Amino acid sequence: LATHFLDRIEKSDLNAFLHVDRALTLAQAAEADARIAAGTATPLTGVPIAHKDIFVTRDWRSTAGSKMLANYVSPFDATVVEKFRAAGMVTLGKLNCDEFAMGSANENSAFGAVKNPWDKNAVPGGSSGGSAAAVAARLAPAVTGTDTGGSIRQPAAFCGITGIKPTYGRVSRFGMIAFASSLDQGGPMAQTAEDCALLLNAMAGFDERDSTSLTPEMGGIDEDYTRELGQPLAGLRIGVPKEYFGEGLAKDVEDAVRAALAKYVEMGATLVDISLPNTALSIPAYYMIAPAEASSNLSRFDGVRYGHRASEYKDLSDMYRKTRAEGFGAEVKRRIMVGTYVLCHGYYDAYYLKAQKIRRLIAQDFEAVLNGPNAVCDVIMGPVAPTVAWDLGDKSDDPVAAYLADIYTLSTSLAGLPGMSIPVGFGAKNRPVGLQIIGKHFGEAKLLNVAHQYQ
Ligand code: GLN
Repeated sequence: LATHFLDRIEKSDLNAFLHVDRALTLAQAAEADARIAAGTATPLTGVPIAHKDIFVTRDWRSTAGSKMLANYVSPFDATVVEKFRAAGMVTLGKLNCDEFAMGSANENSAFGAVKNPWDKNAVPGGSSGGSAAAVAARLAPAVTGTDTGGSIRQPAAFCGITGIKPTYGRVSRFGMIAFASSLDQGGPMAQTAEDCALLLNAMAGFDERDSTSLTPEMGGIDEDYTRELGQPLAGLRIGVPKEYFGEGLAKDVEDAVRAALAKYVEMGATLVDISLPNTALSIPAYYMIAPAEASSNLSRFDGVRYGHRASEYKDLSDMYRKTRAEGFGAEVKRRIMVGTYVLCHGYYDAYYLKAQKIRRLIAQDFEAVLNGPNAVCDVIMGPVAPTVAWDLGDKSDDPVAAYLADIYTLSTSLAGLPGMSIPVGFGAKNRPVGLQIIGKHFGEAKLLNVAHQYQ
């Protein structure tokens, strides 16, 4: 298996992988063989997996798609990497992504764009673009991604694969290079919901090394995420938010999503019209909160502790300045500036605090329809993105256009809810369309079955 995928990776021209090391992978595969022979295998033993280059690895470089970390090798493995190794999975290498996971098209990677395997003129989505492209092109059967505001769901949609962003705190952030810590959440991406459930079984769980990891008291218990697979959907109430079907949604995407909803009705579900009134505010709120946290998280890249350092400088301040000017790309710098600005004394209340209040309102919108005394639905469905994958280069010099395309994924992240994308057909230019399924906190097992029934 490992050889099969390594050969495919070698022949691929998608730029999905940043670092592959055949000998390392084959050594892990030999260990897996031994384990299978010894009868101590798990269901995942010997199955190859590749990691988004946001997860640090001891044996492969960890770049976060940034020149800042171009040659960085971590002294330890991320918890997620460790857990998959413990299950016997075989690491294929590291996957391209937007720099520090900031982006929606994978065009912000310092190591070049990734091509969408369905159409090489299209972006694969982002920031987990390499991850989604690798699964779609059958370069890996399973991959990891991270989702801060849609980076698992949107590339999964653009590449026609399945991905789940779990409830915030389910999957350890230890060893996941930080972007916006109150939003960042890792998750699996694969061909099917069933595969994602098996992967989540190994990936999720309390980790004392992550201060926001869900403790068992908070509900972060080890679960079997496959346990609901196969249950009929009769009686399932699907909330359909009107704000997700308004102006800006392309007709081809709407048609595919509505056709998928009709299939759910055939399976016995009922559709309920709902409203998530603060949806539009998710864009300004997210694009203040995420950059604010990023500006703080990225202060650690000072040329002393990690990665790149400018080669010539006059004094310490000059070294910091030149190191950061050289190491970070344009989008990362833009966010550090926005983030620093909204956190400034004098602007904090007007911007950052306001954004936090909006975040609460957005969470309450979901709470009302999913959990409150007047709850009307069990899951929510809608599009993942307003359009299918756009052409390479199309939005690369217009950051705001890219931000606006995040409209349907940001609120889920701000509310900490689990969300998925499953492929439900093709839109314009025969490019894939994804259906988004959003659940209650801790509702992954149900979400995965709802997705599984469609597949
Ligand atoms: N597109 C969003 C951004 O650029 C989301 C990225 C993510 O989820 N990592 O911030």
